[in-house]
Amino acid sequence: MSEAAVELVSPGGQTTNPHGSVETPLAVQGVTVSYGEKPAVFSVDASIPAESMTAIIGPNGAGKSTLLKAVLGIVPRLSGSVTVFGEPFTRARHRVAYVPQRASVDWDFPTRVIDVVMMGLFRELGLLKLVRREHHKTALACLERVGMVDFAQRQIGQLSGGQQQRVFLARALAQNADLYLLDEPFAGVDAATERAIIDVLKSLKADKRTVVCVHHDLATVADYFDHVLLINVRKMAEGPVATTFTGKNLQKTYGGRLATAHIDQLNLSAA
Ligand code: ADP
Ligand code: MG
Repeated sequence: MSEAAVELVSPGGQTTNPHGSVETPLAVQGVTVSYGEKPAVFSVDASIPAESMTAIIGPNGAGKSTLLKAVLGIVPRLSGSVTVFGEPFTRARHRVAYVPQRASVDWDFPTRVIDVVMMGLFRELGLLKLVRREHHKTALACLERVGMVDFAQRQIGQLSGGQQQRVFLARALAQNADLYLLDEPFAGVDAATERAIIDVLKSLKADKRTVVCVHHDLATVADYFDHVLLINVRKMAEGPVATTFTGKNLQKTYGGRLATAHIDQLNLSAA
C-alpha cells in the first residue's frame, strides 16, 4: 500500500497518520534562502500546530515573505526541508492556499472579481476548464463570506486596496484548503476590512483549518493569534503567544529598532 493510501483525511481536512496522531500542517527544518551572498533566511526551523492561528513576526527585511515563498517553492531553498501534512509540498500543494502581499500584485490587466475567485477553483475545473453553474455558485458564496458579492462583476483593478484584499481571501476560500498562508493580510486595509478578514480567519480555525499570517501589527497579536514565530533572518523564538510573545523575545527580534516604550504599551508579561 502506498503512503498516500494509508492516510485518513477527516471531514475537517486534518490528516491523521496510521498511528492516529495529527500530522503537523507545516514543518520547516533548517531552511536557508539567499538572493545574493547574504542569506535572507538562515537555517530556520518551525513547526506550525494543527488548527492554530500563527503569526510570523519580525522587522522589515527579516525574511518573512521569503520564508513563505520558500515553503511554496516560489524561491529556491539553499538547504533545509519543508513538509506539509507530513508530505513534500509538491504532493500536498492542493491543500495549501496562499494570499501574497498585496503590493506584489499588479492589476493593470482587466480581470473581473468573479474570475479572480474562480482561479481558486482551478483544480476543480479540470482539464477542459469547464465552468459549471456550481462553480459560479461556490465563487459567489466565497465572495459573500468576505462581504464582496455585490462586486462580482467589477474589475479588480478598480477596487480599493481593502476590497482587493477581501477578493484574494475569497479566492483562497474557494480553494477549500487545509493550510492558509497569508502575507500581511491586514496591511493598508480599513478597519471594517480588517474585522471582516479576521472573522473569516477565525471561522477557518473553528473549522479545523490552520492559518499562518505574516503580521506586522504587534498590538493585535495577542487578540488574533495563538502561536507565534519570531524571525530576523534566523528564528528568534517560536511557541504559544502567551509564553513566547514577550518583551524579551521582541527585543531580541527587533533589537534597537523597537523602542522599549512601544514594548511597554503592549502590556506583555515580564518573562
Ligand atoms: P520581509 O517580508 O520580512 O520584509 P523579505 O522576505 O521580503 O522580508 O526580504 C528579505 C530580504 O531579502 C530583504 O533584505 C530583501 O531586500 C531581500 N529580497 C527579497 N526579495 C528579493 C529578491 N527577489 N531579490 C533580491 N533580494 C530580495
Ligand atoms: Mg514581506
